[in-house]
Amino acid sequence: MPKRDLYKIEGEKLVRSRRHCPKCGEGTFMAEHKDRTTCGNCQYTEFKNKDPKPEAAKKEEKPAEKKE
Ligand SMILES: [Zn+2]
Repeated sequence: MPKRDLYKIEGEKLVRSRRHCPKCGEGTFMAEHKDRTTCGNCQYTEFKNKDPKPEAAKKEEKPAEKKE
């Protein structure tokens, strides 16, 4: 996969579009699958939540960054 696909531009910020493995650290990206992400190094698998709870989503929002 081309390196440029690891990132996507959001506004003026460079944001990682791929998750890294929480076990292996930030140097190890997880493979994207249709319904899950998997670490090829330690086989850690994280299933994507199709119906995220509103409260859970709120917690991951960055505070004090409103676009008008
Ligand atoms: Zn891992």
